[in-house]
Amino acid sequence: MQKECMERESGSSTRVEEILEAMRRQEFQVYYQPQYDALTNRIRGAEALARWIRPDGTTVMPGDFIPELEKSDRIVELDWYIFREVCAFLQRQREERMRQVPISVNFSRKHVCEETFAKRLCEIADAYAVPRELLIVEVTESALVEHEEEVLRLVEDVRRAGFRIAIDDFGSGLSSLSFVKDISSDILKIDKSLLSHNCEDEKERIVLESLFSFAHRLKMITVAEGVETREQLGFLRTCGCNVIQGFLFAKPMDAERFLTLCRETPVVEEAEDILMIQPAGSAMQLLLDAVFMCYPLVIYSNLTRNSFYMMAYENFSSRSCPSTGVYDELIRHGASTMHPDDRELFRETFRIDKQMETFARGEKTIRVVTRQLGDDGVYRRVETTNYLVKNPSSDDVLVISLCHNLEE
Ligand code: C2E
Ligand code: MG
Ligand code: MG
Repeated sequence: MQKECMERESGSSTRVEEILEAMRRQEFQVYYQPQYDALTNRIRGAEALARWIRPDGTTVMPGDFIPELEKSDRIVELDWYIFREVCAFLQRQREERMRQVPISVNFSRKHVCEETFAKRLCEIADAYAVPRELLIVEVTESALVEHEEEVLRLVEDVRRAGFRIAIDDFGSGLSSLSFVKDISSDILKIDKSLLSHNCEDEKERIVLESLFSFAHRLKMITVAEGVETREQLGFLRTCGCNVIQGFLFAKPMDAERFLTLCRETPVVEEAEDILMIQPAGSAMQLLLDAVFMCYPLVIYSNLTRNSFYMMAYENFSSRSCPSTGVYDELIRHGASTMHPDDRELFRETFRIDKQMETFARGEKTIRVVTRQLGDDGVYRRVETTNYLVKNPSSDDVLVISLCHNLEE
């Protein structure tokens, strides 16, 4: 059996040549950490992670060889080696007629200097006859910050060739939200450092909810990394996180064990997953478009956690509301924009404890009409309908608020 060892004592003295020699002797293996659909708990992907298995059976973890390889720029050799191994794995899985899920491969920032990066990806994938949509290129957030222009070019080339891009470790460093907006990434991987043990801290929750909302509005699939507790999972589900990767579900495992797991566990095939982030024209997107057409202001709130975010905010006569934050404060703010005679009604109707009582009595909707001041200084009658539901995966009470002006 393989022992995991950190080998810290050899630390910086682990020489690059020794590592490369080990690679030539095929001592490097790919481990796969499955990624699970946050709603269905099915496997819908995996991340390939390098492991150095020494002849004595000890396992050297990436933290003990990646930094040295990075320093010497030889990391690119490891990345291409891992990518090739992943393609060989996918080819084998295909030959065995197994259902397949996409595999993410880590690529160091050092690849930004490789002019022919996308071409090489294509050559290797084609050599193993692997469909490109089964391969995801992970680039770390720090690479984005350091080499903005080069990364944008690389990402464009890679996506044009039919592979998908994931931004790794988002939130771990000098994240720039505006840069993520500019980069056409398919997937955003939220770094584990943003998740505390039980996600109880109010500010942490607000930051995470906002991040997920931001990513989804940019049509990115979200992956939460390093999920270890049920509390984290519960909260991530309320944020609408799409994919979960973490020890709570599975640790990285060797190829044989991953193959067995894929054989035994149902996997999600992309095409059947309409919640996955709706391409334009999908049933889900069309339904949402219809809802937003009738209700220009739609707010998604979690009463139990006292938080909210705007799902849509189009063509509404008052646009002064914050787009995410604490629910109590939203109600206070909303009341301040109401006609003075309606303020008390508005505040009382939407008090969290009142809504919780309503829900506990078994009632599912709350409807109220109030006069709200528009940005043009005119009061309009606004109908707000709150739909109260329980989150199926936790005890949280959620509210969908649909608002529209009664006259224009
Ligand atoms: P990463 O790409 O962010 O990969 C996720 C890391 O988080 C993995 O560590 C994984 O084992 C760990 N992890 C996953 N779930 C949990 C959890 O619930 N709790 C905790 N504490 N950790 C969890 P690993 O395998 O040690 O890899 C560390 C980093 O090394 C990777 O971070 C990646 O940046 C790098 N790396 C690994 N393989 C390669 C490779 O082939 N090429 C390159 N360039 N970098 C690699
Ligand atoms: Mg990664
Ligand atoms: Mg990561």
